[in-house]
Amino acid sequence: MTPSSNDFHPVRAMAGHRHEFGEHGGVNMSVESSTTFTVMDPARMPQIFAGEHGPEQGGCYLYSRHFNPTVYELGREIAAMEGTEAAYCTASGMGAVMAAILQECDHGDHVVASQALYGGSYALLHDFLPRKNGITTTFVDANDLAQVEAAIGPRTRLVYVETLSNPTLAVADLPRLSAICRRHGIKLVVDNTFTPLVISPARWGADVVVHSMTKFISGASDVIAGVVCSSQEFLAQLMDLHTGALMLLGPTLDAQRAFDLSCRLPHLPLRMAEHSRRAQFFAERLAARGLKVGYPGLADHPQHALMQQLAHAEFGCGGILTLDLGSEARANRLMDLLQNEHAFGFMAVSLGFHHTLMSCSAASTSSELPPEDLQRAGISTGLLRLSIGYTGTLEQRWQQMESALTKLDGPLPTPQA
Ligand SMILES: *Cc1c(COP(=O)(O)O)cnc(C)c1O
Repeated sequence: MTPSSNDFHPVRAMAGHRHEFGEHGGVNMSVESSTTFTVMDPARMPQIFAGEHGPEQGGCYLYSRHFNPTVYELGREIAAMEGTEAAYCTASGMGAVMAAILQECDHGDHVVASQALYGGSYALLHDFLPRKNGITTTFVDANDLAQVEAAIGPRTRLVYVETLSNPTLAVADLPRLSAICRRHGIKLVVDNTFTPLVISPARWGADVVVHSMTKFISGASDVIAGVVCSSQEFLAQLMDLHTGALMLLGPTLDAQRAFDLSCRLPHLPLRMAEHSRRAQFFAERLAARGLKVGYPGLADHPQHALMQQLAHAEFGCGGILTLDLGSEARANRLMDLLQNEHAFGFMAVSLGFHHTLMSCSAASTSSELPPEDLQRAGISTGLLRLSIGYTGTLEQRWQQMESALTKLDGPLPTPQA
């Protein structure tokens, strides 16, 4: 039973969400900056600890590492956007990834993960969790469904993928991955950081959706934050006083930061549409010059058809593209020209910013992967990742890019090479 994407629209769902007014009728919600909350009756306190009262049962709060009203409201807004029952926000994307995995896996359990993952998530699964928690991972080509299924064993608890992989932009076949997970009674956990609004993984069967809100959801490169979107039941497990990964490891988001992010959600649809429109434009122009561009909105992308099936059309195919320059030296030369001579964008890791950000993945955000794993994941040393911003005019930006490209020496890789 695969739900069709037609029955869910994230913008409609966000607008249908009950608005949270401020304490005095303000159009914005109030920031609840208290860490602790009073009870009017001493009998209430043990009932809150026993889970008989909470945010969804009488609007009761206890302590802000558990639930904070402002953070809880941002969670509700993100849950509406992702089409999940619940969500709770974390102090970073890694806090969300870690909590989702640790909640589902006990010591000795096993994960099947895509070999094409954000470097931090790769290191968590490859190095940290086996050493510290006895949780092991088999890395697979997530687009090879037979390989995914063959890696599932008796202790496997979840399959972990990115909707659009960082930085290789492979599109995960969420409906089919979900069908495999259902068959084996395990969870599908999806990192949707690259594609908020573009793809709604829960509608294609993801059980848990995580984000680094540091990226597109913030959009201003000023806040580190994350979110776990799931069922109410899973959220209750995350907050369990004895075994909850969020409650006990404590990567909770600050109320003021939750408020800041909540003010940006209403314009996320406008931003995503423009990021995607410009990335599509650049991908087409670069491809027309015969360059080796990776972008799921191009017809030659291996999962182009899948992308069109899964994406909400008005948000395009996302704001990230890759350009293979053949060598790290040439990738560095292009970034240097683009930043320091042509003011096209910034040499910096991260993504989803209003200005364009550029980084060489193998030497930065994927440097956690050893050379053979980089190769297996398709991350060549000259691969440049561009997060396309929306400042400046499109033609101005293209001229800057073209001027920089003409200054590079030697033949550049072509799609055939
Ligand atoms: C950045 C990123 C993360 C980690 O998020 P932080 O907010 O930096 O902790 C996780 N997954 C993906 C795909 C990312 O790009």
